[in-house]
Amino acid sequence: MSKSYCSKLWNHQYIHMSGSFRFCCATNDNILDDKGNRFHINNTSLDNVWNSNRVKQTRLKMMNSEIVPECVKCVEQESRGYASMRTTDNKEHFFSQTTSDGSVSLKPTTMELHYGNVCNLKCRMCSQNYSNQIGKELLEIGQEDKNFIEWVVKESGNVNNWTNSLSVEYSWFQNTKTKNKLNEFISKNIETLTVIGGEPTIIPEFYDLFEYCEKQDTLKNKHFTIVTNLTNTNPKMVQWLPKLKSWTIWASIDGLNERTEYIRYPSNFNKVEENLKFYQSLVQEDKGFIMLSPAIQLLNIDQLDELLEWYIDLSGDRFGKNMNISWLAQVWYPRICNYDIAPKDYRHQIADKLEKKKEYFSQWKNISTYYNSQIKNLRSNTIDIDTATHLQKAFIKYNDRLDAHRKKLTWRKLLPELEKSLTKSIK
Ligand code: SF4
Repeated sequence: MSKSYCSKLWNHQYIHMSGSFRFCCATNDNILDDKGNRFHINNTSLDNVWNSNRVKQTRLKMMNSEIVPECVKCVEQESRGYASMRTTDNKEHFFSQTTSDGSVSLKPTTMELHYGNVCNLKCRMCSQNYSNQIGKELLEIGQEDKNFIEWVVKESGNVNNWTNSLSVEYSWFQNTKTKNKLNEFISKNIETLTVIGGEPTIIPEFYDLFEYCEKQDTLKNKHFTIVTNLTNTNPKMVQWLPKLKSWTIWASIDGLNERTEYIRYPSNFNKVEENLKFYQSLVQEDKGFIMLSPAIQLLNIDQLDELLEWYIDLSGDRFGKNMNISWLAQVWYPRICNYDIAPKDYRHQIADKLEKKKEYFSQWKNISTYYNSQIKNLRSNTIDIDTATHLQKAFIKYNDRLDAHRKKLTWRKLLPELEKSLTKSIK
């Protein structure tokens, strides 16, 4: 029995927003060449990476049940009794297809593709690795307020993720040669594609992929999952989506009206709703799925009940069939977004509010499991007082500074109860 086996090494390719390659989304390690340099999509073929020495050696290690350092996160999660990203299907088949040096003539059939970090929003819980707008804004603030940027860097992980490279912009997909080889590879080999950004729907090269596969008549073999903030779409989706074998939209919406506009700045809720309805109009019984996928955090936990109700109402008959709600993931990082840091009185006040809708949501098991665990989390004290106070002060300082820079709605106006509770707590 191979304990380190993961089928991703036989069927999956992952392209990071930087243009480097990884085994999957669960590892932070890039695939390296024989000189120890990371492969980059602009300088190599996808086939070359697929049967590179590093990947071949890893396949052999997995076949021999040896430890794979890149897979440490999965190993850790499993050892704590949690599910991991590891996939263990088709072992015998894949092993039988592997030569003695670890190479395979099989091609990957699934891919996670990050189209760089070009995005139109700067969401509170995001980082410049996913949105080039975030670093840009912080650098603008830094021109007037150097101390603030020094503080952000010092508090990296607490107030903003991975602040070491604020000016990073990944736009490798704009290279025509790269785009062409990627489109060709996907059209030929990939059956299940997950597209993430940045924001894919503002990237013309993403639509070129649809055009290309349409011309090759390969859309019919594919399932596309598109993770989108719904601020944009393309009218040609009417033509493309029905040609796919199936498709799923992961709808990143974090609240109603000005709440999502504040968190996912500068979005427009009406536009988001319009685009959601546009995709909804393209849903067919056997294909087309929409998953509401909110990032549950301190800035929206109080509105969770209303957000879910709005989505269920909007879905109508489709709810529970083609339209559903993803697991309700709680934001852990940056830590100031995690609602665990809120004062106890505020957490309990919100838990009491959410409790009132518990009964209503109990008719949908997938919702109630996660909904109830949010209520339970709100009532537990997971952070010691000193750490919580430090993070509460950081929440106030970071959000006040961003609000002052943007000169729009402030968190203080949006969440007066939270302001009251935090002010009292940090005294
Ligand atoms: S075991 Fe985990 S980290 Fe390793 S390839 Fe599989 S999913 Fe990725």
